[in-house]
Amino acid sequence: MNSLDPRTIILLTGVMGGVMSLVMYMMRRNFPPNIKGLTAWAASPFILFIAAILGGSRGLLPEFLSIVLPNILLFVGIYVAYFGSQQFFGVAPALRRWVMALIPVAAVAIWFTLIQPDYRTRLMLLSPSLGLVFAMHAHLIYTKAPRTFASWLSFVVLLSAVAIQIMRFLLAWQSRNETGVYDLNSPQAYFLAAYSFVILLFNVGLLLMATECLRTEFEHQATHDSLTDAFTRRHMNEACAQELERCRRHGHVMALLIMDLDHFKAINDTYGHQRGDRVLVEFATQVKTLLRRQDQLGRFGGEEFVLLLPETPLPVATVVAERIRAMVDESSDNPHYTVSIGLTINQHDYDSLDTLLARADTALYRAKEKGRNRVGSV
Ligand code: GH3
Ligand code: MG
Ligand code: MG
Repeated sequence: MNSLDPRTIILLTGVMGGVMSLVMYMMRRNFPPNIKGLTAWAASPFILFIAAILGGSRGLLPEFLSIVLPNILLFVGIYVAYFGSQQFFGVAPALRRWVMALIPVAAVAIWFTLIQPDYRTRLMLLSPSLGLVFAMHAHLIYTKAPRTFASWLSFVVLLSAVAIQIMRFLLAWQSRNETGVYDLNSPQAYFLAAYSFVILLFNVGLLLMATECLRTEFEHQATHDSLTDAFTRRHMNEACAQELERCRRHGHVMALLIMDLDHFKAINDTYGHQRGDRVLVEFATQVKTLLRRQDQLGRFGGEEFVLLLPETPLPVATVVAERIRAMVDESSDNPHYTVSIGLTINQHDYDSLDTLLARADTALYRAKEKGRNRVGSV
């Protein structure tokens, strides 16, 4: 029991928290601003770092600074991490309720330290409040986070933190002669060590969640058009080439549609470029409502879109194209606009993507020539 020195553990945890905070802060600076919560995640280990430094100075500083304040900061630091996760997952934080919760926590810390010093009661009242914040945080991650390694790690670590607080409570309840966290004969020192480790792992979990989110964000940016959120030309080229290869292997048919909005220049000239942009977004959104999961809509540039329909024979693809054309034509959107569609399917084993695109383009050209607002196929 005597091998663990609580003061060293507290100080070491503090330093690790300080380093974690620095790493989080550096990461936050490099992250796009639409990923929220990182500032709070960086602030949390910093607050715990201050709490640890103050708590580790017991005997050197007055009790208010070395016991009361660290206890309050511990609660604040753990809450701030939860607050960061709420921002990260886009949940509105109930900040006022938490500021209110701070009053009883501070009252307990002050009363059972300065007015009626009682380590055991203080511990029995404060550990459930910390456990509650950990439990709420675990619940948030369980319900909101995608199931990845990082979120599982954070979830399991938070549950361990809850368990540790429950055990600290039970231990304090049972042993009537606890004198304090610096009592070397107390098993509380072991809980303190486990708890420090858990806090460290938890920060690693948050860091991993942030980087996973960043990767997803970059992947999305690389494959999606920023205006319409349709796939980019590069992604469509890859997806079509892949599907063509699958068709060759399994003898499937795929359909390729090129869709070009009619007289789009006139829409821009009459209503302005911004309204034109909105039309492009509306078009992509509307088309997506008609698609199956495996279909992929891409924007090839300007007002030209490409649609890949895997395992779709010509008659079915024609029905889909006609449905898109009709939906756009019948929509009550202002300004009214129409779309012309060129459609083709793979016909021979040696058909390349360029051949397919050229054929669909010819079909589109014919549809335009015949008066627009129609579907042409080759
Ligand atoms: P057609 O029926 O023959 O297709 O005529 P069109 O006017 O649609 O075709 P044209 O190729 O002459 O004009 C396309 C217009 O699309 C011209 C260009 O200013 C506009 N455009 C291209 N990209 C964008 C964009 O991102 N936003 C907006 N608002 N307009 C765009
Ligand atoms: Mg056009
Ligand atoms: Mg065009």
